[in-house]
Amino acid sequence: MKLHRVTLRAGREKSLLRRHPWVFSGAIAHVEASPAAGATVEVHAADGTFMARAAWSPVSNIRARVWSFDPREAIDAAFLRTRVEISVRAREGLRDARNNGCRLVNAESDGLPGFIADRYDDVLVVQLLAAGAEAWRDVLIAALCDATACASVYERSDADTRQLEGLEPRAGPLRGDAPARVTLLENGLRYGVDVARGQKTGFFLDQRDNRARVGALADGRDVLDAFCYSGGFTCAALAGDARSVLAIDSSTAALDLARANVAANGFESSRVEWRDADVFAELRRLRDAAASFDLIVLDPPKLAPTAQHAEKAGRAYKDVNLLALKLLRPGGRLATFSCSGGVSAELFQKIVAGAALDARVDAAIIGRFGPSADHLVALNFPEGDYLKGLLVRRNA
Ligand code: SAH
Repeated sequence: MKLHRVTLRAGREKSLLRRHPWVFSGAIAHVEASPAAGATVEVHAADGTFMARAAWSPVSNIRARVWSFDPREAIDAAFLRTRVEISVRAREGLRDARNNGCRLVNAESDGLPGFIADRYDDVLVVQLLAAGAEAWRDVLIAALCDATACASVYERSDADTRQLEGLEPRAGPLRGDAPARVTLLENGLRYGVDVARGQKTGFFLDQRDNRARVGALADGRDVLDAFCYSGGFTCAALAGDARSVLAIDSSTAALDLARANVAANGFESSRVEWRDADVFAELRRLRDAAASFDLIVLDPPKLAPTAQHAEKAGRAYKDVNLLALKLLRPGGRLATFSCSGGVSAELFQKIVAGAALDARVDAAIIGRFGPSADHLVALNFPEGDYLKGLLVRRNA
């Protein structure tokens, strides 16, 4: 089948030569006919050199996402199956007796733009977030089921980014009797995951290793878990013998799940206090009440989805970190995260440094956090490197 040809403006092939997988609308000089959404197109430099085969997305600013840079490679079911199999195989060993979940496909970083698949026990939760992934949905999902021998698939393509691709949100069971509630085992702890109504695909698997590290610091400590969601860090801290945990989130549904997760792991509920509140306001109240903690986790939602939001998000990150540093006892530790693609690790460190300065708190970085290994970041796709964190100690 002849593919429609997309020709770039002169000089705009540079990012493709570095194997970056996105072609922006502004880089395109000419498109042959009008390819359908998700159709495979052939991208050529202005001088006619073949650059890539890519999925066309007629309304998105990211007008094409590369499937392959290899001119010999056809984009068909066999090609996609192989990519899915490679992704799944790369995670072998990440599931074990203490962990029954992991991210199996991490979109662009696995060479499958817009396709995300998380596994919770034997249930797969998928997101198809770009026109190309949507066009190949049946092939991708069948390949995933074959590679994992899982029969249950739930779709959560209800992320905002689908709108940018001109796609309607889509969510619900796709295959098998995908239960709405699954039990994830992470670092030996049990978490109920609400795959139907939870945030994203239901759980933030990218924090697995960081939860273990933070849990190991909790022994005998008074802990504050701000933006606790379903209690990932709260349970890790309790498993690490925290003396007390104050957990805050503004989602009632998340707090209900978090309470259930504390109970499911057999922790005494008296060690935890829950607050259904806005973290920014609640930390101010805690400061005014002269509260203090030995260990604070700050894991806010994505405040800057893209670099354009970085400035406003920077103020919010600074505000919340400043308050947390003030609530930290001398010698105490702050595990502070940003999952904003628009805020680099370097910028995040500057923001936290600025917060310490304004809080008049003397502090040092004693560790750094990134995503767990299943959330791999392709070196040609720095946009995938969204999760960063610092472990900061307040000097005594
Ligand atoms: N730490 C969690 C993930 C946090 S996700 C874990 O380990 O799983 C971000 C959370 O922040 C969500 O649960 C969301 O409900 C909550 N949230 C967003 N804005 C908030 C605000 N202003 N105050 C309190 N919680 C907020």
